Amino acid sequence: MSPFGELGRRLEKAGVPFRRDQPLAPLTWMGVGGRVALLAEPRHAEDLALLRREASGLGVRLETLGVGANVLVAEGEIPLAVVRLTAGAFQEVSIREGQVEAGAGASLEPLIRRTLAEGLAGLEGLVGIPATVGGALAMNAGSRHTEISASLVSVSVVDALGERKILPKSMCRFGYRKSGLKGMTVISARFSLGSGDPEALREAARAIKDEKARTQPLGDSSAGCIFKNPPGKSAGQLIDAAGLKGAREGQAQVSDRHANFIVNLGGATADEVGRLIDRVREGVRRARGVELELEVVRWP
Ligand SMILES: Cc1cc2nc3c(=O)[nH]c(=O)nc-3n(C[C@H](O)[C@H](O)[C@H](O)COP(=O)(O)OP(=O)(O)OC[C@H]3O[C@@H](n4cnc5c(N)ncnc54)[C@H](O)[C@@H]3O)c2cc1C
Repeated sequence: MSPFGELGRRLEKAGVPFRRDQPLAPLTWMGVGGRVALLAEPRHAEDLALLRREASGLGVRLETLGVGANVLVAEGEIPLAVVRLTAGAFQEVSIREGQVEAGAGASLEPLIRRTLAEGLAGLEGLVGIPATVGGALAMNAGSRHTEISASLVSVSVVDALGERKILPKSMCRFGYRKSGLKGMTVISARFSLGSGDPEALREAARAIKDEKARTQPLGDSSAGCIFKNPPGKSAGQLIDAAGLKGAREGQAQVSDRHANFIVNLGGATADEVGRLIDRVREGVRRARGVELELEVVRWP
């Protein structure tokens, strides 16, 4: 039996909900790519710990999927097991005296709205970023206004071996759009927020969201920014300056609204997106001598 078959057998025995041979395209914003051997949706942290332990013992690569807003999945059969934190146990949010405890499967946007309504400051700079709390932390999502790690106190995780741990922020190795959390699964996070006037906070959030809607293709299928901004430079401006805005491979196109986004015009394939990424990288290297680094996460 393959390691995936054996993992499925063990999950079945333990009652952990999962499905075999699942397409990932509908679970990502870009909407491209193939199928994974196993997709699990644990009921609670104990299920998740068992899943991580068994996957690790069997040598199965296990990845956590949020809302798939920064993931680009390859074509074909992907040798991966994927876990999603869709169960209620991972969505809970509690707010008390400026301390926010949020499940990693909770959506970021409603969480931000709730903190603003309670007059809590710190997350408003993240409005308009499609994410789960866990995905935002793993990517250290942010804008020019802030990063999610700025108001973080600690995270609760299940590590690669299935151990539950609480990591203070100092152990999460946050950097620009990166963290040390990707090899584990974040299950919840604690934030400490300041106080502010709810109306002023909502107004600030509205202005940030309007600016985002003006400058980014929010209504299209994309995976967010494809490349990180090189130090002191804008990846979008470099791509634009290399004459690649609007460039196409099949149904994948460099957005003409923001050149650091690739959009799926409808029916694009992962290979088309991959070819366009290579072309953009090569074009910027030749035109500007800059090596662009991927921000988007590619599976496998
Ligand atoms: C229209 C659009 C606009 C965007 N704008 C921005 C922006 O302004 N700023 C910005 O920073 N990003 C932006 N993004 C990218 C994306 O929204 C962020 O990277 C977001 O944090 C992804 O969250 P997710 O839940 O979708 O994670 P996914 O895309 O599902 O996963 C991303 C990575 O996080 C890991 N991960 C997910 N959940 C967990 C978990 N619980 N524990 C451990 N690892 C986990 C995954 O394994 C993967 O490596 C944008 C994307 C789109 C489509």
